[in-house]
Amino acid sequence: MEISIVDVSPKPGIEGDICLYVVETSKGLILVEAGPPNGFQRLEKWLLEREYSFSDIKYVLLTHIHLDHGGGAGYIVQRGGNPEIYVHPRGAPHLVDPSKLWRSSLETIGDVARVYGEPQPVPEELVKIPSDGEEVELLGLGFEFIYTPGHAKHHMSIYLEDEDILFTGDSAGLYHGGTVIPTTPPPHNVEESRSSIRRMMALAPGRLGYTHFGIVDDALDWLERYEIVYNKWVNHVEKGYREGRGIDEIYRELRRVDVGIEVQERFFRYRGYGEEEVLLSLYGIYSYYEWLETRSSSGS
Ligand SMILES: [Zn+2]
Repeated sequence: MEISIVDVSPKPGIEGDICLYVVETSKGLILVEAGPPNGFQRLEKWLLEREYSFSDIKYVLLTHIHLDHGGGAGYIVQRGGNPEIYVHPRGAPHLVDPSKLWRSSLETIGDVARVYGEPQPVPEELVKIPSDGEEVELLGLGFEFIYTPGHAKHHMSIYLEDEDILFTGDSAGLYHGGTVIPTTPPPHNVEESRSSIRRMMALAPGRLGYTHFGIVDDALDWLERYEIVYNKWVNHVEKGYREGRGIDEIYRELRRVDVGIEVQERFFRYRGYGEEEVLLSLYGIYSYYEWLETRSSSGS
């Protein structure tokens, strides 16, 4: 068995933005993530170069259904693949009918959604829904699904026991340039995110596989670093919110004290879209506190 990282970044000529993982076994392929629709050609090229066809893909395991992670699943089926596709129960309906997901993506991330591309539907009979903590054996390998909400309500992290690697999707941040920062666009849930980080730590994996981007050893070390940065952002935004400061000011202040932001923003500029990703993430945390306040003032 071998794990390969396939770069499925959607912009031509741009590397290191979004990846998926291919687990190669003698009985077929297992994909972790399907990549964005516009990264699909890179997956196809990778398969052809190794004389695989789409029918060799037996399973696709999605951390969540956002376009950059699950958007390519329908294309695999369109091209003759017939894999079982594992997804969180709250994400499953949007794989089968992605029209609402596409509309809401256009509303929330706009041009970024167009860079990722429009998803195609997945036949319902291919969709598998694991429960939280469920362990399954696929092509002789043991996988465990752990619900890790926060980034999205329908987020799971996926542990491959044989390789002691946890695929974290977006639940352990973005890893670029040797730094890790949160990706927390609205709607974001701080409490859920914190317990998800704790849960991943409790699992004590050896390695992490980030979708953005690549594998790190010393998983616990990176989860701890992530937790520190995450809490720093949250505390900073919460304080700014309570003091009545606007999101732009909060962003400028945080940029001064967190060098990781600059490193990652350099990467965002290189890839040529979504340069305001950090600002959007801060806004996700900010709007969580707005939501908490409306919830408590409405007395529910
Ligand atoms: Zn993502």
